[in-house]
Amino acid sequence: MPIGLDHSVSRAIAIPQPAAVDGAAIALNSNVLVLNKFYQAIRVINVKRAFSLLCRELAEVIHIETNTHSQSKWLNLDFDSWRDLSQLKAEFEPDEYEWIHTVRFQIAVPRIIRLLAYDKLPRQDVKLNRRNIYARDSNRCQYCGKKYPTTELSLDHITPKSQGGRTTWENLVCCCVKCNVRKGGRTPDQAKLRLVTKPAKPRRSPVITIRLADERYWSWKQFLDNAYWTVELK
Ligand SMILES: [Zn+2]
Repeated sequence: MPIGLDHSVSRAIAIPQPAAVDGAAIALNSNVLVLNKFYQAIRVINVKRAFSLLCRELAEVIHIETNTHSQSKWLNLDFDSWRDLSQLKAEFEPDEYEWIHTVRFQIAVPRIIRLLAYDKLPRQDVKLNRRNIYARDSNRCQYCGKKYPTTELSLDHITPKSQGGRTTWENLVCCCVKCNVRKGGRTPDQAKLRLVTKPAKPRRSPVITIRLADERYWSWKQFLDNAYWTVELK
């Protein structure tokens, strides 16, 4: 399948280096939600990768327009149609989008694309890994409640492994160095520490949940909820 093997930038569009164009750095840092052919959200990718898929006609843009009555409709657009629509947007709603400038034209960064031939279902399980636990806990030490940069946090087994604690969503939290030292190889009770929140397994990727808080990505919501409600139960 196309997804996963794409590192090249298509010939059809020259993505500028971030330093070359004002605003390009912001645009290149945007995220694009990827749907499978059944409109189910499967992952988040960067702009370069999204344009490469579009240019090679492996994907189309899903654009959501909201009218004055707050009704929304979807448009399915190929690369050329999206470029044409971008010209209108550039004129009337330039602030609503991030822009990629090429020698001959500028094009808006799409928020959502759909893979035309990819029919695999989204993974239902959120991976238990460091990144997702930090994201679930919003980089907040779950004992003192303070926020730290990722480099100053570690993972803590609430019930230590030495006391039979398991590596699960319910038994892992992120924790600052100071609290980690204070807790040592003990349970919170033994160390007289209290958890700020009860850890649980998130329903969807916590990384996506963080992006949803950014209003630029409001249009993702219906597809994420849709995936949640329509995925077949096993
Ligand atoms: Zn702490």
